[in-house]
Amino acid sequence: MQTALADFVRDTPQGREADAILRSCVHCGFCLPACPTYRLLGDELDSPRGRIYLMKQLLEGQPASGPTLLHLDRCLTCRACESACPSGVQYGKLLDIGRALAEERVPRPASSRLKRYLLRKIVPHTGRVRTLLRLGTAAAPLLPRTLRARITAQEPAGGYVPTGQAAWPEPRHARRVLLLEGCVQPALASNINPAAAQVLDRIGISAVRVPGSGCCGALSYHLAAHEEARAQLRRNVDALWPHLETGAEAVVITASACAAMLADYRRLLRDDPDYSARAERIGALARDISQVLAANAAALGKLLGTGQAPPSPRGGALRVAFQAPCSLQHHLKLTGVVEPLLTAAGFALTPVADGHTCCGSAGTYSLLQPQLAGELLRAKVSALEAGTPDVIATANIGCLAHIRNGTSLPVRHWVELLAVRLGCG
Ligand code: SF4
Ligand code: SF4
Repeated sequence: MQTALADFVRDTPQGREADAILRSCVHCGFCLPACPTYRLLGDELDSPRGRIYLMKQLLEGQPASGPTLLHLDRCLTCRACESACPSGVQYGKLLDIGRALAEERVPRPASSRLKRYLLRKIVPHTGRVRTLLRLGTAAAPLLPRTLRARITAQEPAGGYVPTGQAAWPEPRHARRVLLLEGCVQPALASNINPAAAQVLDRIGISAVRVPGSGCCGALSYHLAAHEEARAQLRRNVDALWPHLETGAEAVVITASACAAMLADYRRLLRDDPDYSARAERIGALARDISQVLAANAAALGKLLGTGQAPPSPRGGALRVAFQAPCSLQHHLKLTGVVEPLLTAAGFALTPVADGHTCCGSAGTYSLLQPQLAGELLRAKVSALEAGTPDVIATANIGCLAHIRNGTSLPVRHWVELLAVRLGCG
């Protein structure tokens, strides 16, 4: 694609990066069928190619208007288009640049600004989310429908998967990883991180908590509040660094979207002389929990040699439908890593059609674009339930909370199932 970037951006780092990405797009359109919003709306401007064109216009200094913002807002940042693109166009990076530019140039309605501000000020803070959850039940009738559903969603009493709370094991192994607990997950699904720590403990790795850490920064970053996000990144770098200096071998996260963000710290802090070297190392050590367990499959296999998967109430092993989050498959490129671990543990995986398509959660998307997110959720739940599973498993807290709104089946993080299988208490 030919470009002629405007003076205000041409010689900036963002301008140079955007220019290279724009030039790599050959307009072939192979990405269109992979794009959930194009498939739903049928509008070229809601496709990757159309959005690339809108961002090119912004970068070339052409006037931008409300519709530019609308079509960029409707993008899920799922990056299915990247997986489909034969030219390797780095759409996600271009979108980060384009969204920040659109945010500067196109005024938002006050209600939209307020909603986005409140999301940034509440969701990345575990304590604030817990308070909202406590208040939420009482205040539910006053809340927007999508937020109300998320706050009041109850796990169904299926009885197939124990619902207890795992305890965090004391560190006792020479091998140590840092487990970044994140922000909203401990409030919404407090069992996931301790369950992961238990599984790691069983294979000879101690998971160490990181006091002073918090939100990975993804939420603010994807709402185009880049400096706010960078402050969160720096806080995490400061909190993680002393532990890495004393020999922790990886930084592990159980939410795949946060793992993808952590892996990107090196790019996002590369221009900060005080943080770039440490961010580079942290990015290199960032791991989704699936990567750590796959890398230690032999140790896990020895443990799994004894015992059986929990039984399905219909006979045989527990039937699991695995939903692979976009962050796992399109951002981290970890397609097909979790499924063999669940199969090795004896669970019966059920088929899930259209597995590359987003469930509609996409960070704050389900709260900001409820109609499109609702349509994607219905399609995703229908695909997940088609194989008559007993439980739905996923790898990301946002997807877990979103899918719970659309199904009567239990929805769990897959590592919780593994913890149950290993008899972790
Ligand atoms: S992003 Fe890739 S697949 Fe889509 S039009 Fe450009 S080159 Fe083709
Ligand atoms: S990131 Fe997802 S929603 Fe956005 S253009 Fe690409 S495929 Fe479409």
